[in-house]
Amino acid sequence: MEKMLLDGEMRNRSEIKVEFEDRGYQFGDGVYEVIRVYNGKLFTSEMHLTRLIESANKISIKIPYTVEEIEAQLKELVAENEIAFGTVYMQFTRGVSPRNHPFPSTDVAPVYVAYTKEVPYNGALKPGAKAITIEDIRWLRCDIKSLNLLGNILAKQKAAETGCFEAIQHRGSTVTEGSSSNISIVVNGELKTHPATNLILNGITRQVMLKICEDLGVAYKEEAFTLEELVVADEVIMTSTTAEITPITEIDGQSIGSGEPGTVTRQIQQAFHAELERQCGHIIESVAK
Ligand code: PMP
Repeated sequence: MEKMLLDGEMRNRSEIKVEFEDRGYQFGDGVYEVIRVYNGKLFTSEMHLTRLIESANKISIKIPYTVEEIEAQLKELVAENEIAFGTVYMQFTRGVSPRNHPFPSTDVAPVYVAYTKEVPYNGALKPGAKAITIEDIRWLRCDIKSLNLLGNILAKQKAAETGCFEAIQHRGSTVTEGSSSNISIVVNGELKTHPATNLILNGITRQVMLKICEDLGVAYKEEAFTLEELVVADEVIMTSTTAEITPITEIDGQSIGSGEPGTVTRQIQQAFHAELERQCGHIIESVAK
């Protein structure tokens, strides 16, 4: 029987119901995280849970647990559902209250759910993927990992309709980030990625990648770059919890560099794999149960 967490308590999935006046359901008034599970272990969970609490603080949702408490609950859930490779999704909404825009009174408790998903994994480096470019129509607090994802969804749908994996968003000529990822370019061996401002989500994979660059001696700059720089870059890299380090080898139908994953991207992918094995143990190919 698949288990979920509801407000920190283990429940059968079939018991979990959405209240239609949950503000997450009606307004997208909540925050979420996705954590990857490798070998039954949560990868970079402390960073994800710290960001979850920061996102909640930014919109005045009070999470009544510490990072350590949530981590312990999630570990128990992963063990209970016997997830070797997969993801844990969790969200906190502002709670259930008669529909009204202002926050409800402070005695309304946030609603917290978490569930697991099995994702088969073979540890292979991700092959090159195609992307489109699209105007970034989202709000100006993209640093908050909010449940409100309409702008992201519309961008991703455009990519899907054109057979592409990601939509790379830009505000005017400045590239911000992907619809569900961060985007970096490599030019003459140097990596450039948008600084962690209100215009992007400061991805955990982005942060792991920058640490890897330091360790490998790959120079990097957290500096915005333009659409023009993007399409003529030697390499383009997409990073996210689910896509890990993915080379973008085609944008709007044009090849990037040679059209094959570049050498810096491959180096970073290998180092990322080593890092996840360091944290979660040696990866042996998994198949769906
Ligand atoms: N930007 C956006 C808009 C995202 O949705 C994601 C995926 N959560 C990312 C960046 C990458 O973040 P992370 O590496 O923490 O998954």
